[in-house]
Amino acid sequence: MTTINPSECIFCRILNGRAPGSFVYQDDFTAAFMDIRQPVPYRVLVVPRAHVETVYDLDAAQAEALFRTTVQVARAVKAASGCEGLNLFQNNGPLAGQDVPHVHMHILPRYPGDALQPSLKSFAQAMGLPMPDRAELDRMAAELRASLA
Ligand code: 5GP
Ligand code: ZN
Repeated sequence: MTTINPSECIFCRILNGRAPGSFVYQDDFTAAFMDIRQPVPYRVLVVPRAHVETVYDLDAAQAEALFRTTVQVARAVKAASGCEGLNLFQNNGPLAGQDVPHVHMHILPRYPGDALQPSLKSFAQAMGLPMPDRAELDRMAAELRASLA
């Protein structure tokens, strides 16, 4: 699915050298570069080279390459930053807070006392909600399992 022209995509422009990017890693299928916003140091984005808008649109090879690169870069970020931990996440679609329509993994180092990102706040708030009972969890698990092809 492509709803925008890749020539207008900021991440495609970075990948093609038509906009500035601070690259951490590049191979034939993926690239990692510094996020332009650094509320905490060493915040990195990992992307497929192809203009793919959301995780739903990744093929198996792209998905594998994206996660493999993310893990490699995450190790490097942890070693370089001395952070206590990392969040690996991606916002999928506008309702989930995806601003750039080119799928990207966020590598977000966490340091003692740093603030929660807005995109993580709703998750933290959800942690305060009552838990569904086991039968409901089982029902959802079975539904997801059935749809795995
Ligand atoms: P999203 O909100 O789509 O999950 O994440 C988009 C990310 O891209 C944000 O963290 C934002 O700071 C970053 N970003 C937006 N424009 C640019 C840019 O021109 N260069 C770089 N390096 N990062 C960008
Ligand atoms: Zn793109």
